[in-house]
Amino acid sequence: MTLRLRLTLLYSTIVGCILLVFGAMVYILITIFLFNQVDDMLYRVHQDVVTVTHIDPMGELDSMSSPPLDITTNAYVQIWGRDGKLKSSSTAVTDSLDPVGLNSATPVYRNTVVREVHLRVLSVPLVRGNRLVGVLQVGTNITVLDEMRNSLIIIMIVSALVAVALAGIGSWSVLGRTLAPLATITDTVDQINRADDLSRRIPYQGPVKDEVGSLVESINQTFERLETLFTSQQRFLADVSHELRTPLTVIKGNVDLIRKLNSVDEDSLNSIDQEAGRLTRLVGGLLMLAQAESGKMTLNLQPVELDSLLFEVLHEMNMLARGKVHLKMNDIDQITISGDRDRLKQVLLNLLANAIQYTPVGGEVFLGLAKVSGKARIIIRDTGPGIPAEDLPHIFERFYRAEKSRTRSKIGGFGLGLSISNWIIERHGGQIKVESKEGKGSTFAIWLPLFGTEAAMLAPTTPRTDVRSSDKKTKDKPEDTHEPLLLK
Ligand code: ADP
Repeated sequence: MTLRLRLTLLYSTIVGCILLVFGAMVYILITIFLFNQVDDMLYRVHQDVVTVTHIDPMGELDSMSSPPLDITTNAYVQIWGRDGKLKSSSTAVTDSLDPVGLNSATPVYRNTVVREVHLRVLSVPLVRGNRLVGVLQVGTNITVLDEMRNSLIIIMIVSALVAVALAGIGSWSVLGRTLAPLATITDTVDQINRADDLSRRIPYQGPVKDEVGSLVESINQTFERLETLFTSQQRFLADVSHELRTPLTVIKGNVDLIRKLNSVDEDSLNSIDQEAGRLTRLVGGLLMLAQAESGKMTLNLQPVELDSLLFEVLHEMNMLARGKVHLKMNDIDQITISGDRDRLKQVLLNLLANAIQYTPVGGEVFLGLAKVSGKARIIIRDTGPGIPAEDLPHIFERFYRAEKSRTRSKIGGFGLGLSISNWIIERHGGQIKVESKEGKGSTFAIWLPLFGTEAAMLAPTTPRTDVRSSDKKTKDKPEDTHEPLLLK
């Protein structure tokens, strides 16, 4: 059974039930009202009769004179003696209007049928002192009342049926219009499934704010997200394959050469060693990103003295910078934050390695740490070539490498370092900001919440999966000539 039919039946049933209850209440109330009117009339007639009825000293009834009945009363009167004989009657009927009422010790209203006529009868025992002297019965024909009640039932049943039918037709057509977009949704989803085309969207012209509009919007957003993820996955595969191919080709070439020459030369061995190292770093980086994106990488948070961490990193990087760039550290503040020391060190090493690698010989790299606006700010500034404006928005995407810096520098990583660093800093509740102008160097600023601050407490420990891949250029990377640090 379709949803449309189910809802239509439900609405019609609800309307039917409401009308049934309402109709029953109207019927009962009207019946009570009408019987009250009839009973009032019978009571008034009974009073009129009682006023003209006398009881002689022997206790016998004397009601020879007819009561002055109103012409509109339409009532039959019978007076029965205590011996059970009819003393007086306003009709030719000699049977009691209500044989059961004759024996009642109290006044009683009852419905009876006398000679196939439906009557309402009031039986009142007539008492003198404590003695029963007779029974007065006043009755009236209630056939009209019955007909009225029957007509009422028929009218109510017919109007209820019409109302139910109208409710059914109305809800069927309204539901048809309301649910039409759902059919479109199903069709579009089917088309997407059949054609494997995630770029399709569900067309919808109705109000965006209603339930169906919101559903269509949500589904379209889901398709958009799926399309992005799918494209990103395809790019990622292409990127990884590309990155793996270069070192493998070099290794294979060198192995072939060794075989051909039948001797192991030092250059070939070095080359194989370097490329194997590159592969190891690439796999390590990929593993880390995979862990980050799947939520398996958690942070081991503890108080970290950033100043001593910076000294440690500076000391390690001096080796890489020696003879190439001047590595300087400005005045640094003593700052403690809550963080994962190893991961933070990894970020600093990545950024410093970038600065040293991309800065030409004789350039300078500054390192600074200060407390600014209630946060810790680490600055890594270089006098390198800078990052072109068109590359700047993409450098935190995985596998992204700026074309110019790649061709200018003989050193290069895989475009994973900034993506991983950004993930780590975000997990600490912080941010990495970058300012760069071509030819004027780059400044990376890491902002982190101080130890014990609310932002530090709120720092998420489970990772988001928003590290995205980009349209990476697919040219080969220049050869790595330095002993690499992390992903460099
Ligand atoms: P890579 O391993 O290629 O350095 P990263 O993710 O660390 O990957 O950096 C992404 C890109 O950002 C680099 O390829 C480079 O183009 C650019 N970049 C990063 N740091 C600097 C810097 N200090 N100076 C110039 N360009 C930089």
